[in-house]
Amino acid sequence: MRVLQPTLDFLAERGAQGHEGFVVWGARLRDQGTTLEFTSPYVPHQTAHTTTKGLLVTVDGAALDRMNRAFYARGEIAAGQVHSHPTDAYHSETDDHFPLVTLRGAISLVVPDFAQHGLASSDRWAWYRLLGLGEWESLPPHVQVAITEEDA
Ligand SMILES: [Zn+2]
Repeated sequence: MRVLQPTLDFLAERGAQGHEGFVVWGARLRDQGTTLEFTSPYVPHQTAHTTTKGLLVTVDGAALDRMNRAFYARGEIAAGQVHSHPTDAYHSETDDHFPLVTLRGAISLVVPDFAQHGLASSDRWAWYRLLGLGEWESLPPHVQVAITEEDA
C-alpha cells in the first residue's frame, strides 16, 4: 500500500471534484541499475485548470523545486509520473512536452476515468517511457512493470 494505492486514492479524490491530478513517483535503482523500484509517491502542489482544449494541471517552479528536494532527502530519484484523464488514457501533446519528470527512461502512466475504478481499470491504463526531450514511447515489450503485493 505504499505507492500505487495512495496514488490512485489521490487521483480519484481530485477526479471527484472534476479535476485531473498529478502524482510523481520516487524510485531507487536495483540490480546493477537494470531495475527501477518505485518506492514512494509525492503529490506536488498543483493547480487544476479548465481550458477550451480540456483539463490541465500545472505545477509551478517552486513546487517542483520542493519536490526535487524531498526526493533527494529520501535518497530517491523522480522517475515516474502518474496523472488522470476524465475519459480515455493517452499521452496528449501537452503531456509529451510538459512532463514533471525529466529523467531519460522515466515512466509516465495515464489513468482513465479520473481513476474512479482504481486498480480495476488497469487494462486501460496507458504506460509510456521518456526517450528524450518531448519524446515518449509506449512501453516496449522488454520493459516490464510489476505491481507487487506490497505496492498494490
Ligand atoms: Zn494528460
